[in-house]
Amino acid sequence: MNLKAAQDTRSEAQVAARLSHIRIVLINTSHPGNIGASARAMKVMGLQHLHLVTPKNFPCAEATAMASGADDLLERAVLHDSLESALDGCSLVLGTSARMRSLPMPQMDLRSAAKSALSEHEGQHIAIIFGQERAGLTNDEIHRCHQLVHVDTNPDYSSLNLSQAVQVMAYELRMAVIGGAGNTIAPSDWVPVDAGQMEMFFVHLEQTLLDIKFMNPEQPKRLMARMRRLFNRARPDQNEINILRGILTATQQTAQKHDN
Ligand code: SAH
Repeated sequence: MNLKAAQDTRSEAQVAARLSHIRIVLINTSHPGNIGASARAMKVMGLQHLHLVTPKNFPCAEATAMASGADDLLERAVLHDSLESALDGCSLVLGTSARMRSLPMPQMDLRSAAKSALSEHEGQHIAIIFGQERAGLTNDEIHRCHQLVHVDTNPDYSSLNLSQAVQVMAYELRMAVIGGAGNTIAPSDWVPVDAGQMEMFFVHLEQTLLDIKFMNPEQPKRLMARMRRLFNRARPDQNEINILRGILTATQQTAQKHDN
């Protein structure tokens, strides 16, 4: 395994550890394909624990086919004959629902629910429950939940396929762990130079701008401050700094010839 792959594995293990106390509970699922597709949706996001309450048909070849490589989750799936047993040990139960219910209980948008589940309930066992394909969660099942969670949709067509609802939930949980969309993944060969190298570059840049008379020493204005902001934002690596310094040296030499 190369270094990058080892780092990825390590950080994936950290993500998986933070998601490890979350269980996805599918209730009375009719279509085994949805169970397989849910396992796949979970595994790609780093979720591991699938619990099934009285599925209509499981285990089933259709579930395995739809799991497409996530069959380890299916093999480890825990079967229950009641929701109560599936919720055993969980201190937070989130119920997912397509319909906004007129029940006096908190209903949260998915993103906020994922964030609060991971921040306020760190380390506790959390169950996220998904209803049957046609009927959704029954009132009895909803009464077991601390909170209802809704995926915002077109109000005239608000019912997601079960496994797609699992996918969106799993994605938001993952985002809540890794810190959201603001994280960009740096290329593996990119190591920004240190502050000392940046300083030498700025000194060289300033000298060059004076040599070519772009910068007026009597009236420098905020040119260097702007240049600093630009290049600090770019966070160049060693190769890029070498190129930039080379360009500056060539510019100075050309300007010198010109002056002579
Ligand atoms: N008519 C049902 C739809 C069931 S879809 C209902 O109103 O709930 C099967 C399951 O997928 C739902 O029980 C729920 O767990 C999940 N689901 C589908 N659409 C969803 C949405 N917009 N928000 C949250 N969960 C949803």
